[in-house]
Amino acid sequence: MWGDVGRRSTITDDALQRCIAIDGPTASGKSVVGRALADLLHLGFFDTGLMYRACTLAVIEAGIDPVDEPAVFHLLHHLDLDVRWPEPNDPRILLAGVDVTPRLRGAAIEQTVSLISRIEDVRSELVRRQRAIATREPVVMAGRDIGTRVLVEARAKIFLDASTDTRARRRLGEERVEGRDSTFDAVLAATRRRDELDNTGHRAIHREQAAEGALIIDTDAMGIDEVVARCVELYRRANPAK
Ligand code: C5P
Repeated sequence: MWGDVGRRSTITDDALQRCIAIDGPTASGKSVVGRALADLLHLGFFDTGLMYRACTLAVIEAGIDPVDEPAVFHLLHHLDLDVRWPEPNDPRILLAGVDVTPRLRGAAIEQTVSLISRIEDVRSELVRRQRAIATREPVVMAGRDIGTRVLVEARAKIFLDASTDTRARRRLGEERVEGRDSTFDAVLAATRRRDELDNTGHRAIHREQAAEGALIIDTDAMGIDEVVARCVELYRRANPAK
């Protein structure tokens, strides 16, 4: 029995160490890069922002005031939230068994998610769930606190950065593709507001807050292929084939 316990923790540690931790501010390219890395390295991709967004959806639907911290935490503590992977690079979030992923990018969630994710009790509960996912098998995990808190053991840590203007331009492009009638000024203001609200707790949204040893990549003047190639190189160096 004791032997089993020892073996299990070695497997767990190995999975956590082989994960790739990607952090960075909003619209810095974490999802695009994370998905491409997952495809190339045959790992699952997990965007932790989806979890915070799903909690926000549940709070909105329950009619709870997002600043009522005890009520938000009570709801979350009892929330039936699950993550599934129909494809390794496409995490789906289920609330009470229903796939809510297509609804998680709506405007109401965009405006409220940072209020929910600021609550420390919410964060520690979600961090616990995120670590549980990564102990099962190595994943590429993206967020704001992955290298600094969720997967401190990961050997490959990346911080993606880009100027506010570049990030707003990217977000504008995405919103136009989704058929939204957004303007650059509105998206720029929303990006600044999100940065401000996300700049609390253990979160890394400025390069100075990146995890120790993280590779910082400035994506302003770099194409996606170049960014991905640098991440793959880091991963292979950090995790040489056995
Ligand atoms: O990455 P995305 O923009 O989808 O994340 C939505 C929000 O969730 C962020 O603005 C942030 O408030 C929160 N978040 C977080 N920690 C993470 C991932 C997301 O606080 N690891």
